[in-house]
Amino acid sequence: IPEIAFAGRSNVGKSSLLNLLTNRRNLARTSGSPGKTRTINFYRINDQFRIVDLPGYGYAKISKSQTEGWGQMMESYLEGRPTLLKVIQLVDIRHAPSAQDVQMYEYLRHFGLDGIVVATKADKVSANEKQKCLSVIKKTLGLSAEDKIIPVSALKKTGYETLLDELEQLIESSATVAR
Ligand code: GDP
Repeated sequence: IPEIAFAGRSNVGKSSLLNLLTNRRNLARTSGSPGKTRTINFYRINDQFRIVDLPGYGYAKISKSQTEGWGQMMESYLEGRPTLLKVIQLVDIRHAPSAQDVQMYEYLRHFGLDGIVVATKADKVSANEKQKCLSVIKKTLGLSAEDKIIPVSALKKTGYETLLDELEQLIESSATVAR
C-alpha cells in the first residue's frame, strides 16, 4: 500500500494538518508539549494509501542523543522503502526555513522524495505578504520551477483541497506504474 509521509519541525502545525486531511479529530495529537511525538505513526486512509506522520525535528530542548535517535529512525524508515511515494515537507509560512529544514529538504532530494512543500498557518499572513513569504521559502529551500508549494491553513481550512488533489495524483500515478 502506497505511503505519503509528512515531515516538519515541531510546532509547524503537522498534527493540525493531518487531523484536517484525515478528517478526524485528534487522530494525531496536537502537541501541548512540543517535541513529544518521537515515533512514526501510520494512518490508513480508505484502503488506498497510508499517511505517515514523521516525528517533528528541531525542538531546541531536545538533547543531542535524542537528535541522533531521530536521524537513525528517519534513516531506517526512508531506506529501502519502495511504497513511499513522497515526503511532504511542512514549513511555517511566516518564517524563512531553518537550517534543519534546508537539511531535511536536501535529504529528501537525495532520496528523490522531494517536490511538495506545504506552507502552514497561512492565515497568519495577509494576502499581500503571502507571495513574498512563499518566495522566501522557495529561495531558501532551493525549490525548482516544477516543485510545488501549497499554502494551507488548518485553522481556517483553506488550501488543503489543493493538497488533497496532489495526494490523489500521486496515488493515481503510482497505481498506473504498478499495473
Ligand atoms: P505540530 O507540533 O507540528 O504537530 O503542530 P500542531 O499541529 O500541534 O500545532 C502547533 C501550534 O500551532 C498549535 O498551537 C496550533 O493551534 C497552531 N496551529 C496549527 N495550525 C495552524 C494554522 O493553520 N493556523 C494557525 N493560526 N495556527 C495553527
